[in-house]
Amino acid sequence: MRQHHISIINIPAYGHVNPTLALVEKLCEKGYRVTYATTEEFAPAVKQAGASPLLYQTTINVEPERIREMIEKNETPISILKESFEILPQLEDLYQNDQPDLIVYDFIAFAGKLFADKLNVPAIRLCSSYAQNESFQLGSEEMLKQLKQAEADFQVYLEKENLPAVSFEHLAIPEALNIVFMPRSFQIKNETFDERFCFVGPSLGKRGEQESLLPETGNRPLMLISLGTAFNAWPEFYRMCIDAFRNSDWHVVMSTGISIEPDSLGDIPDNFTVRQRVPQLDILAKADLFVSHGGMNSTMEAMNAGVPLVVIPQMYEQELTARRVDELGLGVYLPKEEVSVSRLQKAVQDVSRDKEMLNRVKDMQKDVKEAGGAEKAAAEIETFIKKSVVPQ
Ligand code: UDP
Repeated sequence: MRQHHISIINIPAYGHVNPTLALVEKLCEKGYRVTYATTEEFAPAVKQAGASPLLYQTTINVEPERIREMIEKNETPISILKESFEILPQLEDLYQNDQPDLIVYDFIAFAGKLFADKLNVPAIRLCSSYAQNESFQLGSEEMLKQLKQAEADFQVYLEKENLPAVSFEHLAIPEALNIVFMPRSFQIKNETFDERFCFVGPSLGKRGEQESLLPETGNRPLMLISLGTAFNAWPEFYRMCIDAFRNSDWHVVMSTGISIEPDSLGDIPDNFTVRQRVPQLDILAKADLFVSHGGMNSTMEAMNAGVPLVVIPQMYEQELTARRVDELGLGVYLPKEEVSVSRLQKAVQDVSRDKEMLNRVKDMQKDVKEAGGAEKAAAEIETFIKKSVVPQ
């Protein structure tokens, strides 16, 4: 019998692509042929994982500053929807002579859903953030109100462009299988999610593209500081961190993101290792504490490594995570507006001295390991294929 062909469709963002890489590896190990619709930036990582990259042109300006502006102005839903309609014809071309048997798409890569509808092939959704259902939607009341407005604008756009009508509601309907990259215990309102939702925890693989950067710390405890890859252009924050911990026992590894040169931060003390990008998984494996923006991947990677958090969220979803971390006693929430040298010192001190917190983090680490990660996700997809997919 011919190999099944799985198409993965994603948006060009690390937080969404990273969890799929280990999954691709596992699917390839199982003998599936995987193609991956992505942009040039992510092609090497996708290829290394074992998939054949199929390149599309994105309409989204992926510069961190632009992404930040888009999210702050709440333009994300409409930009992502417009992007989906730009990508759809490109997908049709890319897959013209090689139709997939199954489409696996990230929860905001709506082009994947639209393409599966069009081809009439089964689809699976990947949730690189919280899963959503009738009881839990990602978005404040204000954001959901704005979304309604965006929906009206979007319908006008579809009509003008002669595109088929599609409602936000249709795009939000869960698939028969939705894979969520967190353990069930971390999901907000987890008791409301039925068997269509499979909580596999973080999907972590090798990160071959990064240099090794484990500093010689002697007996010093190790702290990682990172605001992730999108909301990281905050030079004052990095300077405050340097001032807060220059004369401390900590060795600090700090990631500043591509828009900030470490040299621009002034004098870097000996107990700091500062880079624009650091091998986060390697560092977390040795770290005692993580000062993070609360991106979903970073949060799950911290839990996987059993590392407690100080969360300084930079946008709405991260704020939810900061509250969730605080509520579950896995770290503390430090609001952005309150960040100062002394508040940073206090938050780090509170977390590092709290043995109960560390125990709760270790319990969450157990949940993460038991959830099964990429291996479990691939096994679920395999079961789904056996039940629902007929080779084309
Ligand atoms: N990351 C990394 N090195 C860095 C900064 C980030 O490897 O210096 C990785 C991190 O391990 C995570 C991803 O980039 O997998 C960031 O995703 P997250 O959801 O935490 O935040 P986002 O960048 O989407 O805001």
